[in-house]
Amino acid sequence: MTTVVLSIAGLDPAGGAGLLADLKTVAACGAHGVGALTATTAQNTVGVKSFHPLPPDVVVAQLAALREDLPIAAAKTGMLATAGVVEAVADWLAANWRGPLVVDPVLVSSSGHLLLEPDAIAILKNKLLPLATVVTPNLPEARELTGLPVETVADMERAARALQAMGARYALVKGGHLTGDATDVLFDGRDLRYFSGERIVIETHGTGCTLSAALATHLGQGQPVTEAVARAKAYVREAMARAVQLGKGKRLLGHLP
Ligand code: PLP
Repeated sequence: MTTVVLSIAGLDPAGGAGLLADLKTVAACGAHGVGALTATTAQNTVGVKSFHPLPPDVVVAQLAALREDLPIAAAKTGMLATAGVVEAVADWLAANWRGPLVVDPVLVSSSGHLLLEPDAIAILKNKLLPLATVVTPNLPEARELTGLPVETVADMERAARALQAMGARYALVKGGHLTGDATDVLFDGRDLRYFSGERIVIETHGTGCTLSAALATHLGQGQPVTEAVARAKAYVREAMARAVQLGKGKRLLGHLP
C-alpha cells in the first residue's frame, strides 16, 4: 500500500524549500505527499522577499479535509510563520494525530529572513515540541530553542538532551553549520548516536526541509527512528550531490526517484 505523508509547511514558489521540496522528497522516497499550507513566501533562489501567513482556521480546514479522507502514516511540520498557526496546528495535532511527527523548527531562512514570528517560539516549545517523535533543529535553531551556546559537538549533545527534556521523543541536532566534518547528534533520552559525513561544500538550500520530509516518509514506512535518520541523511547527501543551478542564487536540490 502506498504510504501517505503529510507536510504542514510554507510555500517557496521556486521549489527549493518548503512544501514543494517536501512533496518532491516524499515522492522520491517512494510515498505520496499531501500538504497543508501555512504561509506563502515571495521567494526565489536568491532569497526570501516577504511572507504572507494564512489564517489559522484556513490551515486547520486543510488538515481536517486531508485527515477525514486519507490514511496518513506520518507527518512533519516546517515553516509555521505565526504564533496563531503554531498554536492551531499544535492543538489540532494533539487532538487528531497519534502517528510519527517530525518537527523541523524553522526559524530563519538561510538568506536571513525571519520565517517564524518571535512570539511564536514559546508556543512551539510548550505545545508542539512535546508532540514530536523527532525534532530536527540546526545549530542556530538549537541555540534559540534551548538558550544554550551550540558550537561544538559537546554543545550539541547538551542541546539534544535539553530538547529531549522539553518533550520530544528524539532530538536530532544537525551539524551542517559546524566547521569541519558535519556531525549530527541524535538523543533518545538514554543514548547519544552520531551521524558523521564529509561536508559537501555547495551553495544550496532546502536541506532542512528535505531531511525532515525524508525522515517523516521513512518513519511512515515503518522504519525505526535511527534507521530512518540514516536513510534521510543519505537522501539529502544524494540530492545535494545532484543539485542544479537554475536561477541566479542557490542551487536547487536534485530530487530523483
Ligand atoms: N521558505 C520556506 C517556505 C521554508 O519552509 C524554508 C525552510 O524551511 C525556507 C524558505 C528556508 O529554507 P533555507 O533556510 O534552506 O533557505
